[in-house]
Parts: sequence; structure tokens; C-alpha cells
Amino acid sequence: MKSERGILFILSGPSGVGKGTICKALRAQKLNIQYSVSATTRNPREGETNGVEYFFKTKDEFLKMIEQNELLEWAEYVGNYYGTPIEYVNQTLDEGRDVLLEIEVQGALQVKKSFPEGVFIFLTPPSLDELRSRIVGRGTETEDLINNRMSVAKEEIEMMKHYDYSVVNDEVESACDRIKSIITAEHCKVSHV
Ligand code: 5GP
Repeated sequence: MKSERGILFILSGPSGVGKGTICKALRAQKLNIQYSVSATTRNPREGETNGVEYFFKTKDEFLKMIEQNELLEWAEYVGNYYGTPIEYVNQTLDEGRDVLLEIEVQGALQVKKSFPEGVFIFLTPPSLDELRSRIVGRGTETEDLINNRMSVAKEEIEMMKHYDYSVVNDEVESACDRIKSIITAEHCKVSHV
């Protein structure tokens, strides 16, 4: 017998840990999972398309979505708003399909309140030194901003205790393999079969 509702997976972790890279690698593997498209007020980067990577919104449009309870969670992150449209998540889970959210830590903690049955996966850097060099490697941040991001990251790592699983992002392929094992394990849980 199969449970009817899909499983909500939340992939989260500190800034710079490589959530985006891991998510992209998982998507390329064509797993049987749906990816939620977030709304954001940040500008599209080169190559990004509205409705594919994000729904790009003005600040007013975003605030209206909050007001009308259209978001499962939202957070302000480096000066821009990001949030998960709730309708897609609920509808897809109701259809019996799994959904994966790739979101930052504040948002994940909000999801935990409304979806305690979600599966929370925390992506960790191999070490704080490695995280710093990844942030520095982006080449977009000043020394002050880097220090600021590192202190935020340390606070975020403290939040790992609220998650179900921790996956070290030492190497993209192995991190993806661990996440796939988690997905498989969750489907084998007695409560889901
Ligand atoms: P970026 O601007 O680089 O695409 O994303 C910046 C951060 O926002 C990343 O840490 C990403 O995980 C997070 N993010 C993307 N979508 C959402 C969302 O819907 N909600 C929250 N809370 N964070 C998000």
C-alpha cells in the first residue's frame, strides 16, 4: 500500500555551502521529484528566465503575496526577498509527488512550523575554512561582507540541530548520492509505505 501524499524535502544550509550547485546536479539526474520555483525580488542573472529559476517580482508584488498568504515561507536575504509559493507545494504533494525546496536557513525554520512532517536536510561545508574560501572564491564580496557572511554562517550552522539529516558537501557527486539515499530511506519508512 502506498501513502497518498508526496514527501516534502527541504535542502538548506549556510550561504556559500553550495546548495544551488547540488540542486542543479540533482535536477540533471532526472529524479522522480518536483522542484519548487521560488519568488524573489532580486534581479535576474544572465541566462535566468522568469518562471524557471525564479518568479521575478517587484517588492510591491512580493509584499502582496505575503499579505495574501500565498507564501509557505519567506525571508530577506542580502537585501532581497525570497519566498516559496504555497499553492504549487500543496497541489504537488496532494497529487502524491515529492517536492524539494532549496532555501536558506530562516525560511527552512519557518517551514518546520507548518510542515513538521517535512524532511529537513542540512548541507554543511567540510570546514569553516573551506566555507570562507568558497565565499572568497566567488570574488564578489568585500572583506567586511565576507566576515559578515561568515558570522551569519556560524549562527546558521548552530541551527543544524533542528534538521533531520546533515550532508557534508565535500564533493558534488558524493553529496548528491547521500541526498538520494535519504530520499530512498524516507520512502522505505513504514509511515510512507
Ligand atoms: P540566489 O540569489 O543566489 O539565487 O539565492 C540566494 C539564497 O536564497 C540561497 O541561499 C537560496 O537557497 C535562497 N533561496 C532561494 N529561494 C528561496 C526561497 O523561496 N525561500 C528562502 N527562504 N530562501 C530561498
